[in-house]
Amino acid sequence: MAEPIVALRGVAKDYESGAGVVRALREVDLTILPGEFVAIVGASGSGKSTLMNILGCLDRPTRGTYELAGVTVGDRGNDGRAIIRNRLIGFIFQGFNLLPRTTALENCELPLQYRGFSRAQRRKRALAALAQVGLEDRVHHTPNQLSGGQQQRVAIARALVTDPPLLLADEPTGNLDTRTSLEVLALLQKLNRERGITIALVTHEHDIAACASRVITVRDGRIVSDVHETSPLDAAKALSELPLAHVQASEGADKDPADEHRRRQTAPVPFGIYPMMVLGALVGALLGVLYGAIVLGEQVGWIVLIAAVLAEAWFGAPWGSPCSWASCQRR
Ligand code: ADP
Ligand code: MG
Repeated sequence: MAEPIVALRGVAKDYESGAGVVRALREVDLTILPGEFVAIVGASGSGKSTLMNILGCLDRPTRGTYELAGVTVGDRGNDGRAIIRNRLIGFIFQGFNLLPRTTALENCELPLQYRGFSRAQRRKRALAALAQVGLEDRVHHTPNQLSGGQQQRVAIARALVTDPPLLLADEPTGNLDTRTSLEVLALLQKLNRERGITIALVTHEHDIAACASRVITVRDGRIVSDVHETSPLDAAKALSELPLAHVQASEGADKDPADEHRRRQTAPVPFGIYPMMVLGALVGALLGVLYGAIVLGEQVGWIVLIAAVLAEAWFGAPWGSPCSWASCQRR
């Protein structure tokens, strides 16, 4: 039998609170083998996130031992756990946790900065990870220019970029509609099957848990059932069979920003264009005067006029479209 990637023995987590000790996890034993796709389900407050935080080395158990890929991690300090986390684990969160005003590419390069990769290597790996999640045509978009499903795919690419053997996801589809959730699940199943990445995800949705090959139920800090599925739901197949009503509903909920861009292009011209055009006309007129005085040695009115009109149009054009100058250049 393969060496387990995750081995928890007698793991407990107590939280001190004003009202006394909360026993969030109670003597949990759990072994996960490489290549498994595990769903962790349970009611709110049952201890799922606490378990994920310990698996992800974000938190330490109060009692018990944790071995990750054969390395004892439970009793390591913050720095030791951070190194292990960066080498072995990719995280996916419900709220995506992408840096705003930072492109998809830069978001994906970030985990590699801590690993000492050169700039060129970082770029190459981040582009490859984004291509793997089908976002090669969105690499220069910032999170607010992407739909929820696309943002989660960037987050998956960021989790993959360090090539971790273990992916952990806490409610990764909690903010997504049915269709987009299935798309994310189909992607995770593909990574699990084709690249052998071990996946553990927390969910409270039955449809999502049905895609896992093993479902663990947590109640009051204990594992109360652990079921292996021989034929889990195929998310890609379920997606293709989804009724049309879901397509329309999800189009409303998860708009493609490219469509939004086209819609906004036909909207009224923004007011900010006018000062920019006046500024453009002044700059153009000045250049015309300088050209006349320096190159021609005389003032030629029509050169000044043409330069002013051309510069006015040049300044006004990008501002007339609701997208920014930089993003217009990329389109
Ligand atoms: P779930 O993710 O299943 O909803 P959690 O793991 O977040 O559950 O929480 C398990 C229990 O531990 C809950 O009773 C919760 O109130 C408590 N808990 C979680 N985090 C803390 C904390 N930092 N301090 C005190 N109690 C906490
Ligand atoms: Mg939780």
